[in-house]
Amino acid sequence: MTTIEKFNNSVMHTYGRFDVVFEKGGNRECIDENGKEYIDFGSGIGTNSLGYCDEKWADAVCAQVRTLQHSSNYYYTKVQADFADRLCNIAGYKSVFFCNSGAEANECAIKVARKYSFDKYGKGRHTIITLVNSFHGRTLATLSATGQDVFHNYFFPFLEGFVNVTANDIADLKEKLEDKTVCAVMLEYVQGEGGVNALNKEFVDAVYDLCAEKDILVIADEVQTGVGRTGKFLAGDHFGRKADVTTLAKGIAGGVPMGACLVNEKCSGVLTAGTHGSTFGGNPIACAGGLAVLDRIESNGFLDEVGKKAEFIKNELVKCSEVKAVSGLGLMIGITLKNKDAHDVAQKALERGLLVLTAKEKVRLLPPLTISYDELKDGLKILIEILEE
Ligand SMILES: *Cc1c(COP(=O)(O)O)cnc(C)c1O
Repeated sequence: MTTIEKFNNSVMHTYGRFDVVFEKGGNRECIDENGKEYIDFGSGIGTNSLGYCDEKWADAVCAQVRTLQHSSNYYYTKVQADFADRLCNIAGYKSVFFCNSGAEANECAIKVARKYSFDKYGKGRHTIITLVNSFHGRTLATLSATGQDVFHNYFFPFLEGFVNVTANDIADLKEKLEDKTVCAVMLEYVQGEGGVNALNKEFVDAVYDLCAEKDILVIADEVQTGVGRTGKFLAGDHFGRKADVTTLAKGIAGGVPMGACLVNEKCSGVLTAGTHGSTFGGNPIACAGGLAVLDRIESNGFLDEVGKKAEFIKNELVKCSEVKAVSGLGLMIGITLKNKDAHDVAQKALERGLLVLTAKEKVRLLPPLTISYDELKDGLKILIEILEE
């Protein structure tokens, strides 16, 4: 049996996969079972923020594996304390709950919002406004929160208490905020899975200002946009706003599973002992990986460099005749094509040694934050050749 046959025999068929088996990685390249090398513009959907097997990150993770791999949350560990302290400081939050994925981080945020409101206003003020075209995860609660009808199938009944507003439609927002049962608005500053669309500043300002008037919490789902992806530590920094609750995952630990739900002072006491938990949450290996990621992101000029690389990519792309528009923020880039199909482009790119993602009808790029200009140039050359064929 080939690896793919064995795989399909035993793994549920929940993904449309490309016909390739990856074996190892080095820096920004990954290598398949036949030894073919690929430049990676997807970084495992933004998780390998420092590329493949970055030396310092790998040293930190391996050292932790050999020291203490897990202890459970019945006990304290220094590495979780250190990571929480650094993360809260950099992000500008009071405290954090650690979990293992983006969906779990959003579950935690939903629980924080509902309990904050329950504690203060009693039962019934539980509705969470999310945006049309959003994506918040695959658990039942986060699917319920996700504002795309395609996800609201098969698994009935979904969780009650989610209402959708059209992104950038302030009138719609105002109308839905009239509902007295609303306790939170949850948004992605740049809708990732929804097609790499950034919200406009007026809309974000309206969300914050209207919510502040009514003590409605703002939850920023920064699972994809956070931890340096957009050239700032949080995408909210581009808008000059800080949500009451911010969720992180994907790139936070450089490719080890981790999610985080950050809360401000106002929400820091909401979840009390016994109201939430996670067996693996704050796992020492993940925290060690996270610390290595923060070390790099905090190094001099790193985030500015992310912004410059993003500009470089956009400038190259807009010269291409097949490119209709380029969207996104920082190294989270969506490419609208004139005639070509994004999935065909991704397939052709794979054949020629370049990994790219898609989001809706767009080609999506989420390269490692550490990608070099040489790799960018080589990858863009392949991509643009395919687009101009
Ligand atoms: C990927 C993603 C999620 C879900 O994260 P998982 O780790 O797959 O659970 C949630 N929200 C956003 C914005 C995402 O991009």
